[in-house]
Amino acid sequence: MSVSDIVPDPSAPGAATTPANSDPVAEIGAHPTATALDGYLYRTLTLDTMNTLRRHLDGCETCWDRWNRHRWDVAARHPLYTELAHFLGPRFRPYYDSSRALATEWDAADPRTDAEIAEFFRTSTSYLYNLVIWEASGNRPPYLQSALKILKRQSITTIVDVGCGIGSDAIALAHSGFRVTGCDYDSPSRQFMTHRTGGAITTIEPDQLQLLRTPPDALWIIDTLDHLTSIEQSLGAAITSTRLVITEDLSGSRSHGTQRFHHRRPLATVAKLFNECGLHALGSDGICHFWARY
Ligand SMILES: [Zn+2]
Repeated sequence: MSVSDIVPDPSAPGAATTPANSDPVAEIGAHPTATALDGYLYRTLTLDTMNTLRRHLDGCETCWDRWNRHRWDVAARHPLYTELAHFLGPRFRPYYDSSRALATEWDAADPRTDAEIAEFFRTSTSYLYNLVIWEASGNRPPYLQSALKILKRQSITTIVDVGCGIGSDAIALAHSGFRVTGCDYDSPSRQFMTHRTGGAITTIEPDQLQLLRTPPDALWIIDTLDHLTSIEQSLGAAITSTRLVITEDLSGSRSHGTQRFHHRRPLATVAKLFNECGLHALGSDGICHFWARY
C-alpha cells in the first residue's frame, strides 16, 4: 500500500542477514545468469531457488545493480514506463534504484508513529517508482485475473481498493465494469493514478474508509494488509459489513522486500481476525486469498 508501508517487490536489498557460522558463498549461491534473473522476475523458479537468488542479490552489489537494470529494461517496454516519464517530466530518472532508495529513505526518516509513517508515504516518490516497476516489469502477480471469476460469482458491483497505489488493480477493475473507489494517501503514487485516469476513479484517504455511508460489496486489499499497523482500526466498519474480501495469498511464503516495512502476520492470525468480523476463508489459488461473509 501503499497504505502504510512498503516495498512491494520481493527483491529490495538489505533485508537478508547471513547466519553466523555459515559459508556466505554457499549461502548466496553463484552469480545469476540473465535467464535466472528472468525466472526471478516472472516467478517461474522454485521457491527455494527464488530465496537463494534473493539472498544473493541482497549480498552481491554487482548482481543487485544488474538486476535493477534488467527489470528496468523489461519495464521500459510497458506503456506504464512512458506514462511515468510523462508524469514526472524532467524529474524522471532512468534506472532509478527505487528499492534501495526506499530502504535508505525509510531508515533516514525512521518513522515510528502512524502519523510519521503516513507522512513518509504521502511524500515518497521512490515508492511511486517501486509500484511502477513492479507492474511494468511483469513481476506483479495477476491478481485481477485470479479474482475475476469469484467477483462475478458473488455478484460484486462496488469495490474499494484499499492501498490502491498507482491504480494497478483499481484501473483494471474499473475497466472490467466494477464501480471502484481507490483508497490511499494523497501521495505521488495516488497522484499518478489520477493522472492515468484523468480523475475518473474516485479516491479517498485511508481515514475516510470508516466514514463511508454505504459499505462496498468487496474490499480489495492487495499488498496492503502487511502494511497496516492495526487491521481492525484501519478497515473499521468496512471489514464488518462488506460481503467479500480479497487479499494476496497469505498461505505461502510472502517474500516482501525490506522487512522493516512490514508487519507480517501468519495466516492463522489474519483468519482469526477476519472470523471475528464474520468473514471465513473460501480458499486461495496461490495468488489471491478469498474471504466471504458467513
Ligand atoms: Zn553476484
